[in-house]
Amino acid sequence: MSGMTASGRPLLNRRLAAFGTTVFAEMSALAVRTGAINLGQGFPDTDGPEEVREAAVRALRDGRGNQYPPGPGVPELRAAIADHQRRFHGLTFDPDTEVLVTAGATEAIAATLLALLEPGDEVIAFEPYYDSYAACVAMAGAVRVPLTLRAPDFRPDLDALRDAITPRTRLLLLNSPHNPTGTVLTREELAAIAELAVERDLLVVTDEVYEHLVFDGEHVPLISLPGMRDRTVSISSAGKTFSFTGWKVGWVTASAPLVTAVRTAKQYLTYVSAGPFQYAVAEALRLPDAYFTAFREDLRAKRDLLADGLAEAGFEVFRPQGTYFVTTDIAPLGEKDGLAFCRSLPERCGVVAVPNAVFYDDPDAGRTQVRFAFCKREDVLREAVSRLRRPAARP
Ligand SMILES: *Cc1c(COP(=O)(O)O)cnc(C)c1O
Repeated sequence: MSGMTASGRPLLNRRLAAFGTTVFAEMSALAVRTGAINLGQGFPDTDGPEEVREAAVRALRDGRGNQYPPGPGVPELRAAIADHQRRFHGLTFDPDTEVLVTAGATEAIAATLLALLEPGDEVIAFEPYYDSYAACVAMAGAVRVPLTLRAPDFRPDLDALRDAITPRTRLLLLNSPHNPTGTVLTREELAAIAELAVERDLLVVTDEVYEHLVFDGEHVPLISLPGMRDRTVSISSAGKTFSFTGWKVGWVTASAPLVTAVRTAKQYLTYVSAGPFQYAVAEALRLPDAYFTAFREDLRAKRDLLADGLAEAGFEVFRPQGTYFVTTDIAPLGEKDGLAFCRSLPERCGVVAVPNAVFYDDPDAGRTQVRFAFCKREDVLREAVSRLRRPAARP
């Protein structure tokens, strides 16, 4: 229900009028009401490493981070973020001037867009996109320009990207590995995007929260490519990599002037957050390579389990190269509308999924696509697959 004051003026401002409650809230409520298995929202049903959880307890008990931490983040975490960028990607950042800790990647995205955009600026992003992008672009008063990734491959159309750039284009907002399609941009695609950014003098914001969940291919940070070091804001987060999505510890790495700009907005959003968790994430980022490999291989096995199960149940499956999610098409089941399908699925077979249409500006582009999360226990995925294969799941 949208409220109004007595004079008839809406309470919610014009910039946000198009944004209702997210479909995740609706579907998660449906999961609770029906007792269905929730493969809708992307959070793990098992916590991350015990030693990382213990590190948070220790920080809390030792009184580290219980009061306002420094605005840019605690020095231990900023150093660990810089070391992690060097260790995995060969990138060098000054922890004092080129690293900023945020309240998850979500705040990093919001602060970056609020800091860098003027009203009327155009932002190009590949759709289907993560739901906060459109809202943050709107809050900044900017204009989103979607470029559609199309089934079955969901590769970016680089000619369309070139055509979409206008004199008003200020930045590109990229997400690789990509939620919800699982697309991982190749080095060649990234090089072409970088070339365009340099040629047209664009800023680029990269959402890399799934950097450690690449099953096929490699994760290449765009900021590592020629000409990109000073025009890219690279964003990542501990939530997905360490299976602690409730801690909300994220970060920005970028040139000092870009970090300063983002910090200017960030300091008036949360100012600071997650004090003791910052110390724990500093330890998590220094876990041995074996942790990151085992984590990826565990999720790869789960991807295969769910993707194979969905294919056997009759879905068209677009096997993701990365992330927590598999996108499917329900047309082979005789279904025509993902939203209606997802609303009826809990009653029909006790599973919750999310309709990809909500991630598109062009609802027709994703009308029959449905997303399932596989960051769940193996027994839960097996049970979900067996439920989806029951005749009641079919029309
Ligand atoms: C989960 C997710 C985020 C949010 O990360 P937090 O650190 O929890 O704020 C941002 N972008 C994408 C693509 C995600 O899937």
